[in-house]
This record gives sequence, C-alpha cells and structure tokens, in this order.
Amino acid sequence: MSPQIIPRPGILDISPYVGGDSKIAGVDRIIKLASNEGPFGPSPLAIEAMKTAASSAHRYPDGGALALREAIAKRFGLDVERIVCGAGSDQLLSLLTYSYAGPGDEVLYTEHGFLIYPIAAKAAGATPVKAPETNLRTDVDALLDAVTDKTRIVFIANPNNPTGTYLSHAELTALRAGLPDDVLLVIDAAYAEFVGRNDYTPGTELVDAGQNTVMTRTFSKLFALGGLRVGWGYFPSEIADVLNRVREPFNVSVMGQAAGIASMQDVAFQQKCFEHNLSWIAKTEAALHDLGIETTASVGNFVLARFGEVSTAERADAFLRERGIIVRRVASYGLPDCLRISMGTADEMEAFLATMRAFMGASQ
Ligand SMILES: *Cc1c(COP(=O)(O)O)cnc(C)c1O
Repeated sequence: MSPQIIPRPGILDISPYVGGDSKIAGVDRIIKLASNEGPFGPSPLAIEAMKTAASSAHRYPDGGALALREAIAKRFGLDVERIVCGAGSDQLLSLLTYSYAGPGDEVLYTEHGFLIYPIAAKAAGATPVKAPETNLRTDVDALLDAVTDKTRIVFIANPNNPTGTYLSHAELTALRAGLPDDVLLVIDAAYAEFVGRNDYTPGTELVDAGQNTVMTRTFSKLFALGGLRVGWGYFPSEIADVLNRVREPFNVSVMGQAAGIASMQDVAFQQKCFEHNLSWIAKTEAALHDLGIETTASVGNFVLARFGEVSTAERADAFLRERGIIVRRVASYGLPDCLRISMGTADEMEAFLATMRAFMGASQ
C-alpha cells in the first residue's frame, strides 16, 4: 500500500464555503437575491473595456496592476504604492492570514462574522476564535476581552455581512487603540461604498496612522464585477511589501484590470447604484416591518430579516423558492431564524415584497 498523503492539521476541519444558489430545478425565471451582487450588471464602460481587452487575453497582465491601482488611488485619494490588488478581496484576506498567522496562533473574528475568516485561519494552521456580538453588532469590548497573547489577527467586516450593521469611526478607533500593537487589525470594508452615514469610515486613516491596520475593498459589490474576481486593499508599506512577495505574480487578469479601471472611473454608475440601494434598503426594511418581521438597520446592499422562529425562516425560504425567488439562508453564520435578501432591481424587489406579503398572509 502506498503511504497516505495527509494535509496539514486544520485543513480537514474546514467546511467548504457554500455560495448562494443561482438555480431552482424546474424554474426558468429566477430572481436571485442571494449573493449581494450588483442588480444592474457591470457598468457599461466596464463591459466595453472587457471587449477591448479580450483581444489581448493571450498576453500576461501587468503583474503590478499599476493602471488599476492608479485608478483606485485617484478615486479615493490614496497612496498608489500602498495599494495591492487581488483575485477578489478574499485572496488578500487569505494571504494576510497565511503571512501573519500559523500553528499556535489565534485569529479573532466576531460571532456572525464573514465565513472566510475561520476558513483562512484553519487553512493557515491557526485557531479561529469567535467573540460574541451584542444585538447582531460587533461588540468592541467583547473583542478586546477575547484577545490573548496568542492573538495575531483580528478580522472585522465593517459593515458586516450578513448582519448589515457597522461600527462607527469612534468605535473602530477605540478597537484599534485597545488592541496590542503587535496584533494586525484587518478591516474588511467590502460594503464601504454603500454606507451613507456620516459617522462611518472605511478605515483609511487608521491604516495611515500606524503599521498594524489594513483595509480591504472589492469590485464585487457596488462595482458589480463579482464574476471577474478583483479586489484591493490599502496597507502600511511593510505589509504591502509582504503581500507583493507572497501573492501570485499575475493574480489579477487582463479583463479584470481593464473592467476594474473602467468601473472605478464610472462615477455616475457608482452614484446610481448607491442611490438605488439606499432607497430599496429603506423600502424593504419598512415593508418587512409592516409585516411584523424585524430587520437590523442594514447599511450594506442586503437586508437581514429576522423571523424569530427557525421554522418560519425555513418556510419563508421554501415559499420564495417555489415562486422562483432565491434569498440566502444564513444558518451557517449562526442565524438560523434569519434570511438575507440582497437588493435587486425595482421589479425584483416588488416581486419579493409581494411574495413576502402572500407568505405572511398565508401563515396568519
Ligand atoms: C463579498 C464579501 C467580500 C468580497 O469578496 P471578493 O472576494 O472581493 O468577491 C469580502 N468580505 C465580505 C464580508 C463580503 O461579504
């Protein structure tokens, strides 16, 4: 018998990430509100840029993604040298974990935090540790209480997925101030572009203030390029240098770079997506409240509906699916009585809300 090839400890403890469904057997017309994708598709300028780039797809991309980084730096007023791009921000989250945590180390995240954090921690051989949340919000004190001398990284999604809640600038600053200086704070700001609150900050100034805080962002959400896998982050120079050593040399494709540049420059499209989202978040939460369903005041591009009973959430999900509407069950996030609904087009949202009214009417 040949010897068994065994992966490193931790690897087989990983439950593979399961994305939102996009098909229902036997249903032709699907309304997919399950993966926080852009309701309008990519920016028309991005589609044009991809068409143009297609004819140079035989060439390797610019490994440094310089033009893309310049477009990001210009849009957000950042230092181009400290931006690193990735194949989705997920890649950057993983590379940060592999670079700064390993066996014996702890990686801290919040109770209903994004599932990529424990996956990356286990893949790196480190131990994921969850800190409790309070009322489905990140609890800074609980996070700080969970820090030990083994803690190497703290991940916080701000705003968080799937809760949609956020930490204010003051709370985020207090978190950084309360953490030991040798603990890396990763602010995953995948939904930053959707937040319309004046006490919110994506975290740029915390990155600039020291050597131990990073911020990751993505083209998958507001910029609506999830299928291309393009993300970026803003880092202290030492950490940008580490990521540039460990990342694959051509981690962002020719098409991804071209579409990323065009959508970063299409500010009118960004504004349209932002306004559509803000108005539908408000309408959706109000309509659910009218039906007696609670929500967390979401600042992302999705609403978290709380049914109270697990069985009601399950029945609502089944009722929606039978009518071709796919939302997201979030039991794997410790929220079995909730459903997460991504904001779609106006027609899709009207159809979702009509179906929810029918469901609640039918269950009275
Ligand atoms: C969607 C999402 C991301 C972004 O993932 P990409 O790899 O950039 O597509 C990161 N963090 C959170 C919390 C998300 O919900």
